[in-house]
Amino acid sequence: MIYLDNAATTRTAPEVLEAMLPFYTEDYGNPGGIYSLGMAGRKAVNQARRIIAGAIGAGQEEIYFTASGTESDNWALRAAAEGCREKGRHLITTGIEHHAVLNTCRYLEGQGFEVTYLGVEEDGLVDPEALRAAIRPDTIMVSVMLANNEIGVIEPVKQLCAIARERGVLFHTDAVQAFGQIPVNVGELGIDMLSASAHKLNGPKGVGMLYVRNGVKLPSFIHGGAQERGRRAGTENVPGIVGFGAAAARAVRIMEEKAQQETQLRDYLIRRIETEIPHCRLNGHRQRRLPGNASFSFAGVEGESVLIRLDMEGICASSGSACTSAAQEPSHVLLAIGRKAEEARGSLRLTLSEENTREELDTVVESLKAIIGELREISPSYREFLKEQQYI
Ligand SMILES: *Cc1c(COP(=O)(O)O)cnc(C)c1O
Repeated sequence: MIYLDNAATTRTAPEVLEAMLPFYTEDYGNPGGIYSLGMAGRKAVNQARRIIAGAIGAGQEEIYFTASGTESDNWALRAAAEGCREKGRHLITTGIEHHAVLNTCRYLEGQGFEVTYLGVEEDGLVDPEALRAAIRPDTIMVSVMLANNEIGVIEPVKQLCAIARERGVLFHTDAVQAFGQIPVNVGELGIDMLSASAHKLNGPKGVGMLYVRNGVKLPSFIHGGAQERGRRAGTENVPGIVGFGAAAARAVRIMEEKAQQETQLRDYLIRRIETEIPHCRLNGHRQRRLPGNASFSFAGVEGESVLIRLDMEGICASSGSACTSAAQEPSHVLLAIGRKAEEARGSLRLTLSEENTREELDTVVESLKAIIGELREISPSYREFLKEQQYI
């Protein structure tokens, strides 16, 4: 099997799993317990908090564990909206956010909030001037992702944040794709809130975190016990949190080498696909992108069909994002960068890990060439495309 869907999720690293196991078998006590069996879990959760805080330059009291990146995004947006009601009812985000942000915004619209969805340039970047123009006196929050999950583009969050800050507007970033892949420092970026998720950096599924800068008022999202300083109730997912900490430590340790390796593999893959498969376009900025992300649109093919054929050859990839791949809707991200619906349907996302090899990529390119060639031979829309472009 060749796994090229690391933006959807990653393999739990052996050292991460090893760190987690004792908290299922021996140290299973409730971290809220007074007895020493609870102590081990409590200590381990705090250690994970320290590691993650250190990884983003935050204080440990600014980290709140959640059950997913999705929960963190929901919490940041809904709590900020609720907490800032007095100030106004206007939020700003972009048209290329993950559905965890977009659908929370839709929910807030139903609750009487107004949301501006900033467009992006053809390379996927948000224009800071567009943000400046969109901020109003009643704007309470800006949420722009650090790196996009479909096309891998790294947004100019530092600049965007400076603009929001000038106007006294809270800034949240969905860093679920970025954390663990590229350096992230909350102080340097100047952000107020940040979401991350363990399973995108070789940690376990079902554990996320929200960074909340000291001094930011943030109502609880889940009500109950006093866990997470009373801001996020529910018995801590101790093994998961420990795994998140171990994954973050590992990611920081290997980041530079991993990024270098993936960038080389990615550029090799892009070069081969662009030179060997006609009528394909790279989606997203060529340089300002995550080390492991290669996203393409192929004229005249259905992304779904390509994926099914790749799967038959043991290759895992994705079109658009995992969350939308069940639906036949063209990706909102690809539409936002100006791809036509037709082109957006013919998209393929290949996301690498440091474990992939050049030989694997050679296999993938050969398979792709054959698959796309065959699909195009029987594709009426490909004939139309060629006619339109005056190739035939
Ligand atoms: C995966 C992802 C999420 C959702 O995280 P989960 O932990 O899977 O809920 C949110 N935003 C982005 C950018 C993602 O890639």
